[in-house]
Order: sequence, then C-alpha cells, then structure tokens
Amino acid sequence: MDDTIITGPLYAPRKKVYPQAVHGRFRRIKWTILILTLGLYYLLPFVRWDRGPGAPSQAVLVDFPHRRFYFFFIELWPQEVYYFTGLLIIAAMVLFLMNAVAGRVWCGYLCPQTVWTDLFYAVERLVEGDRRERIMSDKRGMTFTHLRQLVTKHAIWLMIAWWTGGAWVLYFSDAPTLVKELATLEAPFAAYLWIAILTVTTYVFAGHAREQVCIYMCPWPRIQAALTDEWALNVTYRRDRGEPRMSVKKAEVARLQQAPAGDCIDCHQCVNVCPTGVDIRQGLQLGCVQCGLCIDACDTVMSQVGRPTGLIAYDTDINAQRRHDGLPPVYRPIRARTLLYAAIIAAVGGIMLYALATRSSLGINVLHDRNPLFTTLSDGSIRNDYTVRLLNKGGDRAFALEVSGLPGAVLRVAGIERNADGKMIAEVGPDQTRELRVSLLVPAKALPRDSVDIEITATDVASGLSAHATDHFIPANR
Ligand code: SF4
Ligand code: SF4
Repeated sequence: MDDTIITGPLYAPRKKVYPQAVHGRFRRIKWTILILTLGLYYLLPFVRWDRGPGAPSQAVLVDFPHRRFYFFFIELWPQEVYYFTGLLIIAAMVLFLMNAVAGRVWCGYLCPQTVWTDLFYAVERLVEGDRRERIMSDKRGMTFTHLRQLVTKHAIWLMIAWWTGGAWVLYFSDAPTLVKELATLEAPFAAYLWIAILTVTTYVFAGHAREQVCIYMCPWPRIQAALTDEWALNVTYRRDRGEPRMSVKKAEVARLQQAPAGDCIDCHQCVNVCPTGVDIRQGLQLGCVQCGLCIDACDTVMSQVGRPTGLIAYDTDINAQRRHDGLPPVYRPIRARTLLYAAIIAAVGGIMLYALATRSSLGINVLHDRNPLFTTLSDGSIRNDYTVRLLNKGGDRAFALEVSGLPGAVLRVAGIERNADGKMIAEVGPDQTRELRVSLLVPAKALPRDSVDIEITATDVASGLSAHATDHFIPANR
C-alpha cells in the first residue's frame, strides 16, 4: 500500500498577470472589434424603427409586459418561440464552425469576457502605466501616488461597469424614456436591481477575475478541446524554427559555424504581452485564448533582430508535423466538418427565413374546457365550451367566427351578438390578442355518436385572410 503523504497546498495560488502593451496586426483587429461590439451594445437601444402608431419605435426591444420581441422589421410573439430555438442552433453551429477553422477565435476576439477585460486592461495601463510601472508600483507597496491611481482606476472601472448594466436594461423598455426615469429616480425597482447586478458582475469578472474566468469558470475551452482537430488553425510556436533558443549573438556565431541555432532569442516578450500569462512556447494550453497578441510581440522582435516574422503564427498541427518532415504546409479550411456545420447553418437559416417570409399576420388558438366536458340542456341538446384566443399582428381588425366539421352545430360567443348577416364578429385591436368564451350547441337529433373533430375559423372581414384551429366536440355518454 502506498502510504506517501502529500504535503503542500492543494491549489496553486494565482500569479498576478501584468500584460504589456503591444502593437501589431492582431492588436489592431482586437481594437476594431472592441470598438464595434461595445459601440453596438451601448448604442443599439437608442436606434429607432417606425412601426406605425401604437407600436414601440425602438429597433431592438424585449417587451415583457406585452410579451413581444422586436428586432427591426421582425416582431416575434410568444407562440413563435421556435425562432429562438433556430437562432440558438445557428449560434452553436457558428461557434463550432469558427472552432473548426480557427480554434478559439471566439474566445480571443468576440467573447464579452475578453472584450470587457481588454477594455479594463486599457484603463489600467492608462492610469497606472505599462507592465514595468505596474510591477514596480506593486513592489513598492502603498504610496500616495499608488493610492490615487488605484482610486482613479476603480472609479473608471465602476463607471464602465455601471454603464454596461445601464445599457442592458435599456433593451427591455423604451430607452430614452427609461434614461429620463433613471435620472429622476422614477424607474421601476427591477431596472435599478439589474443595473446593480450587472455593475457588480462586470466589475468583478473584467476587473478582478479576468483570465480566471477563461481558465476555471468557462466550459467552452473543455468543449472546444473535444471538438477540434489537427486541421484547425491555432496560435502556434513553430518549435522547428525557434529551437534551440539562444541570444542573437550566439545564434549568429552558431550559424557561421553551421551549428543549429533557433530564431527564439528567449526575450519573453510573447509571455509579457499575454493577457492570461501563458508561455505559448510550451505548446497549446487551456489558458491560451488564441488572441494572437504574442504573434504581434514576436513579429516585432523578429523584425528588430533581422529574422523573418511568423515564429509564432496561426498554424495547424498537421503543418507542424509536415515541417518537421521537410514537407510544404497544407491548409484545408473546407473539409467534411466545416461543410457539415455550414450546411446546418444554411438549412436552419433558410427554414427560418422561409417561415418569416410566409408567417401569417393573424392566428387562432382553441382550448376545450376540461370540466365539464359537455353540458346537457333541458331539451336534450349538448353544449361544449371552449376558450378561443385570436391573435392580430396587424392593424385594427374584425374577425368572423365559424365552425365546420359538425353539421347542425351552432356557434355562440359570450358578449357578442350575431350581426344582420347572422355572423359572429369579434373585433381585435392592432397588435393585440383577444380571449373569447365560445360555445358549440348541437340539437339532440343532430348529435354524433362519438367525439368528432371540429374546426373553428377566424376570417378577417376586410381582407378575407383566415386562420384555423381544430379541437373536438364531445357528445354526452350514451
Ligand atoms: S517573443 Fe519570440 S523570440 Fe521572444 S521569447 Fe517569444 S517566441 Fe522567443
Ligand atoms: S499565448 Fe498568445 S494567443 Fe494565447 S492567450 Fe497568450 S497572447 Fe493570446
């Protein structure tokens, strides 16, 4: 029996990361994406979209009180929740496709945690200085200057976090009105509560937890690792070119002597700029979010020492092996799995577009009463009762209600009289639903022996458009 006693801590303490500023192609891409995504998030609630009188004029709005979701020209009702299912499937497939083509490109450039952390790091750098100054400052301990910097940094972080929460609630109510209500302390309590929750989570995740969210909390790196293959592009240290690493001078001498000399000068710039503190030269790791900043850092170093750039680059496992074998690199972004993901995206997107283009502007739901299932009247006739809901996704409308499938049945609607033509007409306001109590009465001599299917039709009197719903008529047990 192994009686070895394990001593020491069970958990490795966190090593504080001090990412250094870096310039280059991938940093510029990240700045561009950061500005676009955050600009979109903060400003979208203020974009207006004219939907006519009585309808909200906010382009993107989740209207819980009226149970609607508005997205520019699209208006979804609770009955159309399947569109969200379609969107979720497309989102998952896009993520899989990104992963199959270029690894954790979502993590490195688009994930909200990455984007906000990047912004918080930029603030930290602006207030406290770059990597060296921040390390020195922490080593010196608390001084007046350091205290002033900390107060300024946390105040700016909290302002960004507060505005992040503030922008979030604007998607759930008319933005200009809610801004005024918030400013005059007249907004609903839920708005303040959500702003507080998002302020705290943004401040904690982007300001304090940072890379720990990616390494310990997020499930995607684990799922991603199971989904990837050897053809996916990943940020890769080209070991065959970099090793054996040595100083510039030693490498020059070695090359003159025809001795092996790698291009890596062991300057640690790739590690210093990494927002998660990873040394990419140790291979692909869970902590690497594939942001490409180490590529920028190493390219700068390579240019300075007169060696070709690309010692760290987006590359595939296949090519690492091929270079080792002296073969030229091959890239295969189009392969079975990428085609499959693209086909699913196209199919689900196509179905959703077709459904949107052909969706009806009216609808009807029918629900048979459960108790009682039928009522026997004194003359022997049988009555069944239903709850009918009319959906009107257009302007003011009047619907004529009719029943079919049961000869002799008489349809009645509580609170509505037959008009001169003998029709039951129910009016429904624009963009509204109306619930009706409907009865079907069948005389004794016309009663069916068993339960029969019936169809209730609502026809728009003006346009002739109609919607149908089926249910049953249940006769008495005989
Ligand atoms: S930046 Fe490039 S040269 Fe410097 S340590 Fe990293 S891989 Fe080596
Ligand atoms: S190792 Fe490179 S690509 Fe990976 S997170 Fe660090 S800087 Fe980004």
